[in-house]
Amino acid sequence: MGIKVSLETVRAELRPGCRLVAVTKTQPPSKILEAYEAGQRLFGENRVQEMREKQPQLPDDVEWHLVGHLQSNKVKYIAPWVSLIHSVDNLSLLEEVSRQGARARRVIPCLHQVHISREETKFGFLPGELDGAVSNITESAFPHAAVIGLMGMATLTDHQEIIRSEFRTLKEIFDRIGKRSSNLNMRELSMGMSGDYKIAMEEGSTLVRVGSAIFGERNK
Ligand SMILES: *Cc1c(COP(=O)(O)O)cnc(C)c1O
Repeated sequence: MGIKVSLETVRAELRPGCRLVAVTKTQPPSKILEAYEAGQRLFGENRVQEMREKQPQLPDDVEWHLVGHLQSNKVKYIAPWVSLIHSVDNLSLLEEVSRQGARARRVIPCLHQVHISREETKFGFLPGELDGAVSNITESAFPHAAVIGLMGMATLTDHQEIIRSEFRTLKEIFDRIGKRSSNLNMRELSMGMSGDYKIAMEEGSTLVRVGSAIFGERNK
């Protein structure tokens, strides 16, 4: 299947209120442009270096989302133009995002990544750490970073009930923090990838991050 057809297939499945981030890691700009020409504007990359190389090669109205782990010393390279950072997993990183947002004279939208899976390797706040962290976020503490939601990755497994319960947990945390934290405008819940975005949407996702279902399997 071509990119355009795959993209349209995924788009046709989107629930109301859920947007598609087309994850383009390892894909050359020519492939990304094919998706752009089919109307896609939100693109996600997982590495700063790769995103930096591709950004000038695509039209200016692309919204670039960083979905992968971010090191503090690399924030400066994407601060002027990144649309959303999905992967802020500690407050010192949020502090650096705010510092670089100030230098770029803008407020950078961010999500807090939450560790919901059974796997040890994935980054993120532990659910129990999140309330404490969030209560430290005030406009005066991080004036140029805006936490607008949460992101999580489910365990890589064929057991749909495990995936569903992890997404449900994240949605509960999202709702609880949204209610409790008048300091934050929590409106985005980033969950779901090629293998599990349908479950994620059923559990309340507002941003699905889909790569291989659109572009085909990546070369590893
Ligand atoms: C690669 C990646 C995706 C997309 O994965 P697919 O399985 O190809 O859809 C989503 N989120 C993150 C953080 C990724 O690194």
